[in-house]
Amino acid sequence: MSRKYNFCAGPAALPEAVLQQAAAELVDYQSAGLSIMEMSHRSPEIVAIAEKAEADFRELLDISNDYAVLFLQGGASTQFASVPLNLLGDKTAADYVNTGQWSKKAIKEAKRFADVNVVASSEDSNFTSIPAFDSWNLNKDAAYLHYTPNETIGGVEFMWTPEVDVPLVADMSSTILSRPIDVNQFGVIYAGAQKNIGPAGLTIAIVRKDLLGKSSSHCPTMLDYQTAADNDSMYNTPPTYGMYLAGLVFQWLKDQGGLAAIETINCRKADKLYHFIDTSDFYANPVEVASRSLMNVPFTLANADLDKQFLAESEQAGMLNLKGHRSVGGMRASIYNAVPEAAVDALIDFMKDFESRA
Ligand SMILES: *Cc1c(COP(=O)(O)O)cnc(C)c1O
Repeated sequence: MSRKYNFCAGPAALPEAVLQQAAAELVDYQSAGLSIMEMSHRSPEIVAIAEKAEADFRELLDISNDYAVLFLQGGASTQFASVPLNLLGDKTAADYVNTGQWSKKAIKEAKRFADVNVVASSEDSNFTSIPAFDSWNLNKDAAYLHYTPNETIGGVEFMWTPEVDVPLVADMSSTILSRPIDVNQFGVIYAGAQKNIGPAGLTIAIVRKDLLGKSSSHCPTMLDYQTAADNDSMYNTPPTYGMYLAGLVFQWLKDQGGLAAIETINCRKADKLYHFIDTSDFYANPVEVASRSLMNVPFTLANADLDKQFLAESEQAGMLNLKGHRSVGGMRASIYNAVPEAAVDALIDFMKDFESRA
């Protein structure tokens, strides 16, 4: 077996130790005589797995009892609808910040349900910066403000949290668990699992409890946060295997020393990659320095004709999925929690070598 370095934006790398444990337990889970995938979601094993996953997730992010943690399905993209359907209450308007492709998708979907006010946009600068907070055109009658703390495609990350008078809603799909945050600053946080949590198919929402129970009468039962909250996320069959895998990832994160420890490693990984890109004349990253993502590092080559060769040779050297998103072009290295520092070192070595031959 030889594992390669996987820089995929999502579904993304998982810790090898987690995959090893899952493999060892795959066919016969802890002598139960069957696989987790074959168990009733009401079985004591699965209930215990779900409870431990939630407890460890709460511990990692220091989530208080004022918040419900919901294990959902449908990906972050379903949350684009769930958020207005659950949070508008008797209001009609919602504020959105537009900092990239994922913000745009959230805005487009919300327009089906709400009067969307885009408070600020960096589209004019091709999403390479974050609009200064004092330029935001906030609506005091908005039901909530939605933003995307890390734009996975553009590689743009908020290193600060907006302070607003309405509930703050964050699509943290590609930044959750990468560093400590203060959950108390948020009304709702949601994330698809396939970047920093586990396999695709699981979506996690952290919902301040006073925001439950305000869903629109048109809200489908399955999209109503209250349904999941009332049923321990088991109103219907939840993604049991994804919850198990996520639980292993949470345990792995705790074993690494928790989010403060993983942040130190993530900063070191990102810093050395950006530093190398900035000191090279051959590679470039377009994002303003203060808003560069810790998780997703897009970069271009001085000569785009060499993109194909770069991708072929990097793959040959054991580095997968470095192709940039079609809307940005060039390359993108996603360096989530499970991408080891050695992968970043290997990438930099490869980039140096490629540049010297170009
Ligand atoms: C990947 C991603 C999404 C889409 O997630 P799905 O689970 O595929 O719906 C949405 N927002 C952000 C920030 C993402 O990184």
